[in-house]
Amino acid sequence: MISKSLATVNPCSMCMPMGSVLVFRGIEGCMPLFHGSQGCSTYMRLYLAHHFREPVDIASTALSEKGAVYGGSANLMQGLKNVIKGYNPKVIGIATTCLAETIGDDVPQIVREFQAQELLAKDVIIISVSTPSYAASHEVGYRVALKALIQTIAKKSKPNGRINMLVGSIISPADVRFLRRLFDDWGLGYILMPDISETFDAILSQDLPLIPKGGTPLEDIRDTANSKATLTIGGWVQEPGAGNYLENEFKVPHVALPLPIGLEFTDRLAANLEELTGLSMPECYERERGRLLDTMVDAHKILADVKTAVYGDTEMVLGITRIMTELGMKPQIVATGAANPAFAENAAELAPGSKVMMETDFSQIATEASSRDIELLVGPFMGRGIARKENIPLLRVGLPNHDRYGASHQLLLGYEGSMNLVEGMANALLEGRERGTT
Ligand code: SF4
Repeated sequence: MISKSLATVNPCSMCMPMGSVLVFRGIEGCMPLFHGSQGCSTYMRLYLAHHFREPVDIASTALSEKGAVYGGSANLMQGLKNVIKGYNPKVIGIATTCLAETIGDDVPQIVREFQAQELLAKDVIIISVSTPSYAASHEVGYRVALKALIQTIAKKSKPNGRINMLVGSIISPADVRFLRRLFDDWGLGYILMPDISETFDAILSQDLPLIPKGGTPLEDIRDTANSKATLTIGGWVQEPGAGNYLENEFKVPHVALPLPIGLEFTDRLAANLEELTGLSMPECYERERGRLLDTMVDAHKILADVKTAVYGDTEMVLGITRIMTELGMKPQIVATGAANPAFAENAAELAPGSKVMMETDFSQIATEASSRDIELLVGPFMGRGIARKENIPLLRVGLPNHDRYGASHQLLLGYEGSMNLVEGMANALLEGRERGTT
């Protein structure tokens, strides 16, 4: 059964512009700028800094009452000037917040005027995305930013023989590093975008650059138009995005895949890589697959028939739901804060009989959890209120995670990441039993 909320208490999603930052920060030399009131930038900087344990700069045009009445053009122009002078970026990613959207600023037009007037703008690519939080969640903000970057920068030239690997939903820096390792080991020529592996998980250094090092190089983004194929990893149930644009505009064939969590979904990624490259899976991953199977058999006696609730971002929730069913677990609640009918349809298929919830909040999840004998919660830390109240162990996965360390290093993808998940769930249950929570 599918439910949809009309009002929200403690939403199971975050603000739309926040998703755009996860993409902009994965591009080399890119600085995010919010066009709106200052609090949006302050809140999202802190939110991301607590999760990644990294400093996160997000500029703001700091609209006040005057801007709200007369329009924010002057603030945006000044903000662009300040960002260029202060940060010397290669790219500025502008995301609107609710106020700028409500007053109806024509951001692309203001940017064109700025580019026409300002010499400063000549070497900087400026991209703007419309991200009103009252319209959609952080997940949609992520995808519109990814598409806007490709739309603005990709240019047709000669074929490069590479494969575009678009990271279609929010994963950890460790997951991105895993994807890189996998493609390198497979001997693949590829373009990975966005790449937050270093920008949100930098090494300790005396030198603290204003814009973190790393990210997808601009030449690579330009070259996505010339690749032989695109895989969107974590784009399974999403609206057409960057990959579809490359297919329609530049005839680069596109396949959207689920996040490779669990056996079936990781096998699906491997099968696509085999097909695209004509090369078999490297031996070390065959062995990892075998170890995952062994781990699943080992943990089966703890996990089989356990009633679970899984919530968070759409693609991650679907991947986790799939591995739960592979383990013989019984997902009872499969929930997301996003409005995504394809999610609901696929969740109902993956976990028949479960309560599928979209556009949901934690008050609704709590109500459902209390009536369904849930034994294990899996999702971001915001479910801890339910965990405490209902005395249910919680395995923290995904974004945000503010009350534990290690979110940047949490590997959930591939056979190895799936093994971490299986062991994490088994151990959370065992710890819960020891504490008397189940
Ligand atoms: S809901 Fe809108 S105004 Fe509020 S913090 Fe999010 S983006 Fe800013």
